[in-house]
Amino acid sequence: MIAINGLYKQFGELSVLENISTEIKEGEVISIIGPSGCGKSTFLRCINLLETPTKGEIVIDGQNISAKNADVSGLRQKMGMVFQSFNLFSHLMIIENLMLGPVNLLKVPRQQAYDEGLQYLEMVGLRAKALAFPDELSGGQKQRAAIARTLAMKPEIVLFDEPTSALDPTMVSEVLGVIRKLAATGMTMMIVTHEMKFARDVSSRVFYMDEKGIYEDGTPTEIFDHPQKPRTRAFIRKIS
Ligand code: ADP
Ligand code: MG
Repeated sequence: MIAINGLYKQFGELSVLENISTEIKEGEVISIIGPSGCGKSTFLRCINLLETPTKGEIVIDGQNISAKNADVSGLRQKMGMVFQSFNLFSHLMIIENLMLGPVNLLKVPRQQAYDEGLQYLEMVGLRAKALAFPDELSGGQKQRAAIARTLAMKPEIVLFDEPTSALDPTMVSEVLGVIRKLAATGMTMMIVTHEMKFARDVSSRVFYMDEKGIYEDGTPTEIFDHPQKPRTRAFIRKIS
């Protein structure tokens, strides 16, 4: 579904990602772990073209999205992204936040967008908050609403960048619960997270990022219980 070939990213003189190549299959749930500043966010942002790769190829469903003539908006629609900060529009009700993309970008009729929006809110346990404004929601509820808004665009892949890092500890599990539920539907996902127990349970594969790339790639058991390389070992030892 996604093929990354020789991806490099530099910010001016600073080289952040060097020669990353990997493939992600449909239905895979990939957790990305690694020290702060190692390029995890940059990697996700390159995949959905929030950042332009310095070099290399990103192919999604057979389309090279890094090509100059790529249909960037079409490809963005295939990929949802959930951020640490929820980025809901505060002057719009939750259901209106969910309807915005489908109505304006996908040209879904308003009534249909409304009905589907309610279904996504139901899935994240927020049906009753459809007519509330973002400020009336807790942090965990806002993030669940943001996930519902992403799903309302019917993405094929969802990228999560530390979706629980801005939340009070009491609200982390409700958000992780929604992501688990989404994983169970077979959604293809890449999740940058510090929640190691969650990463172990939910993912089919774990990328440990370090030294400007995917330093070690394996199943949760391989990475968490039997890391092969020194930096992975040191990281796992430190966090466990
Ligand atoms: P992580 O998400 O793993 O913590 P990031 O991808 O955010 O790491 O950052 C990797 C490195 O790239 C850091 O040194 C960071 O300061 C730098 N960086 C990230 N975004 C930019 C940017 N827009 N301009 C310049 N440097 C950046
Ligand atoms: Mg980051």
